[in-house]
Amino acid sequence: MHILTVSSEAYPYSKTGGLADMVGDLSRHLAKLGHDVRVVLPYYRCTREKNLDTEIHAEDFKVICGDKTVTCRILKFIEESSSVRFYFVDQKGYFDRPELYNENNVDYPDNAERFIFFCNATVQMTKYFDFDVDIIHCHDWQTGLIPALIKTGFSKPSTLKEAKTVFTIHNIGYQGNYAMSNFHLTGLPPDLASTSGLEFYQNMSLIKSGIIFSDFLTTVSPRYASEIQTPELGFGLNSLIKEKRNKLAGILNGIDDSHWNPMTDPFLCCHYGPEDLEEKTNCKKNLQNKMNFPPDPDIPLIGGISRIAHQKGYDMVASVLPGILSNDLQMVILGTGDPQIENQLENISRRCHNFKFIKAFDESLSHQIIAGCDIFMVPSRYEPCGLTQMFALKYGTFPVVHATGGLDDTVKNFDPVTGTGNGVKFTPFSDIEFTSALVKALTLFERDKALWKRVLKNGMLENHSWEHRVIQYHNLYRDMTRNSLPCQNR
Ligand code: ADP
Repeated sequence: MHILTVSSEAYPYSKTGGLADMVGDLSRHLAKLGHDVRVVLPYYRCTREKNLDTEIHAEDFKVICGDKTVTCRILKFIEESSSVRFYFVDQKGYFDRPELYNENNVDYPDNAERFIFFCNATVQMTKYFDFDVDIIHCHDWQTGLIPALIKTGFSKPSTLKEAKTVFTIHNIGYQGNYAMSNFHLTGLPPDLASTSGLEFYQNMSLIKSGIIFSDFLTTVSPRYASEIQTPELGFGLNSLIKEKRNKLAGILNGIDDSHWNPMTDPFLCCHYGPEDLEEKTNCKKNLQNKMNFPPDPDIPLIGGISRIAHQKGYDMVASVLPGILSNDLQMVILGTGDPQIENQLENISRRCHNFKFIKAFDESLSHQIIAGCDIFMVPSRYEPCGLTQMFALKYGTFPVVHATGGLDDTVKNFDPVTGTGNGVKFTPFSDIEFTSALVKALTLFERDKALWKRVLKNGMLENHSWEHRVIQYHNLYRDMTRNSLPCQNR
């Protein structure tokens, strides 16, 4: 199949979170199955700085955005290792900026215009393809306009005549809701500036466009597919999602075994696998030294890597931290985000010798934390899928998670009687439940080394790889191109 994937980020060319991992990994695994996969991305400054060997696909390319015309270049790059083709939309005014979406936690004021342009550029560039597109897979609000442009836009390129659209919701809390005054840039018929179209509480909602006009919706875990149909986690779109539930599936994200594998990880000082955890102790020692903690293997080391945001529960972590840190343990948190929570964590980090907060986005350190810690926490209020708990499982690091979304789908409580399970999950979301889940993990670590090892091994032997999960997308696309609409929650 000819698959066109459109996203605002993909690893390693641009990344702020799990969206980038998912789009990059899924595309490469689809290509491995033999599909022709092309990915459209903005050409950000961070992408340019990678000095890729791109060729010019279109120079002086005029993109019509409603009543405005914007000129850009389209650069093409073929990734040799995967044969995935990347098209970068190079528009300096919109994308040559220090960050992708915001600086100092403040959104760029023209985000609506930037991504409306990106969607129009994507649709219009397909005019020059010498093949017909079978599937357009769009991700999150930044690409939400595309299904609407294809279904209702004034001029649909003939290469898209047969194309079916899939829209994946990675996080329904981020909706791309902007003032209606931007609608004139969309290129959509004026009657769609209404509640049956993009209007959402007097604003224009780009995620709503994707939900209404795509042929099929997916989200990144089965549990999250149910949760977004509830008022608690649907962020105002739950009724609409419920209405569309017959074209909705929850497919768990995978992890890339070639990038996240404790047996080969180039960021680690030592390598290990499920049959021999000996060298994990050296990874721990290495991390303890790096954090200026005493390198004692018997002191439990807890880690967290996250966007520091309310969604991720790090405000709650900050509030219970002083109590937790009074125990004989060590903790390291790596992340950036909400300045207020960052400040709290920095203050605690200054006061407590056994806690380090590293305010950075650091790929190499993220691998070392996943490998070096004993326990890994993911206390998100809600979590569409979550990747770090799956990294932790693969690296023999015991996950402590809130039982929500993909965390609930991937973590199973350990059972001391049967020796089954791979971690601990808590519910409801509260500081008391979180603390008591941590205590459960710490108690197991300290009191029953045999069971501890068994639970770690259970997790390490599970298969969360894309190799295993990509087939569900393959089947979905195949059913769509054969016009046999897939059933709910495959
Ligand atoms: P989300 O996409 O909601 O931020 P996910 O768990 O799905 O959460 O994905 C987060 C991704 O970003 C993971 O690959 C994680 O390792 C990475 N990540 C998050 N924060 C950092 C950081 N400060 N440094 C390095 N990697 C990070």
